[in-house]
Amino acid sequence: MIGVVFLGPPGAGKGTQAQILEQKYGARQISTGDILRRHRQAGTALGKEAQAYMDRGDLVPDDVIIKMFEAELGDGTKGFILDGFPRTVPQAQALDALLARLHLPLTAVLLFKTERPELIKRLTARWTNPRTGRVYNEISDPPKVRGICDDDGGELVQRPDDRPETVTKRLDVYEAQTAPLIDYYKRSGLLVPIDAMQPVEDVRKQIVAALGSSVAS
Ligand code: ADP
Ligand code: AMP
Repeated sequence: MIGVVFLGPPGAGKGTQAQILEQKYGARQISTGDILRRHRQAGTALGKEAQAYMDRGDLVPDDVIIKMFEAELGDGTKGFILDGFPRTVPQAQALDALLARLHLPLTAVLLFKTERPELIKRLTARWTNPRTGRVYNEISDPPKVRGICDDDGGELVQRPDDRPETVTKRLDVYEAQTAPLIDYYKRSGLLVPIDAMQPVEDVRKQIVAALGSSVAS
């Protein structure tokens, strides 16, 4: 089983790759962004608490996220691909403590390296199936029919936080609060850089190559 963190800014392609690789590794994608959006959709207390932070492009407070993540991971024995968590040093420390308690390994931390203008281009052209999390791009990976998912024929949505002004804020928040995790994971020797500017299939190959030698059995 694998236990992997996908680290990188919004729009780097973490969700896209997690969805592709889930089946190959039999591991579960855990996207804290998707979980929060489901809570909002269902109108839970957690969803209501998170709403204002998400709409502003800010991070939801660590204590809320860590508690939510612990519940989602369960016993973690199927393996996991973490997409969008951890996003701060306290979250990374909480993850380390949790994995130690559950005797689960962290196989690798893949750093999705990208450039800001490409991220803005990707995010403002992103369409998502809110029911499954499948991601499209109106330029590089459009659905067969505009606004409709190829899989379930249901509507695709554009996320409100993918508007240009919120995108800029989220990228700034990444630099200030999440980028320090690069050093954190460099120190643990787990960090593997991936050139995420490449097309989806090339990024996938780099990830498989990176995990090849480190897959825990
Ligand atoms: P993240 O989960 O890191 O925020 P996504 O996986 O949602 O990013 O991808 C953001 C947008 O970029 C989506 O519209 C997706 O289709 C597109 N995308 C993902 N990977 C690539 C790539 N390698 N090249 C071009 N576009 C991509
Ligand atoms: P994402 O879908 O990963 O782009 O996340 C969307 C939004 O959800 C972020 O802009 C944050 O407001 C919130 N969020 C998701 N994951 C986290 C996290 N690990 N820590 C704090 N906030 C998060």
